Amino acid sequence: MTEATKKDQYTLIIMKPDALVKSLTGNILARFLEARLRIIGAKVVKVSRELVEQHYEHLIDEPFFNDLYEYFSGKTYGPNYERVLAFVYEGEDAISKVRRIAGATNPLEADPISIRGAYGRINKKGVMENVIHCSDSEESAKKEVHLWFDPDEIIKEIYPTKKVVKNNYEVIEWV
Ligand code: UDP
Ligand code: MG
Repeated sequence: MTEATKKDQYTLIIMKPDALVKSLTGNILARFLEARLRIIGAKVVKVSRELVEQHYEHLIDEPFFNDLYEYFSGKTYGPNYERVLAFVYEGEDAISKVRRIAGATNPLEADPISIRGAYGRINKKGVMENVIHCSDSEESAKKEVHLWFDPDEIIKEIYPTKKVVKNNYEVIEWV
């Protein structure tokens, strides 16, 4: 394939509260430079219970879900850490490149030089504190970007949008 026809992928990366507690934000950004991708959206988010339930929909019936909520919302670490950083990255093979740099879900099984292998741990409640989230497929990237970002928070229109009028203002929403 030539440069012009290579298909870009999009992926959601979240620096979870333990990344902030451990002062890893700069380090993690530097690690992702290796993948030669581009950041097209970025923000700080205070994570609600509803957002965790939607984001981790596939885990909602797991016995550890409440402990996962405590971790992902940052409640485990106190009010100063009740936040995450969310990014949308764009580029060729973005999803697999990012997953490789992130490492396996279980930090004890992750490649020791991956982000999760180097900095993750399993906490006293058994939750895998693995520093970052990253989308695992094009389908989940689309679902997650829709959940975490409004269209006007990303510098280009990566999925279809529509204009709707709310309180006499025109706003752009995902289709
Ligand atoms: N998780 C956990 N224990 C498990 C499975 C998942 O603590 O047995 C947590 C872990 O923080 C993980 C997140 O739930 O990153 C989401 O799980 P998923 O299976 O989607 O893994 P990921 O896509 O993050 O690698
Ligand atoms: Mg996942």
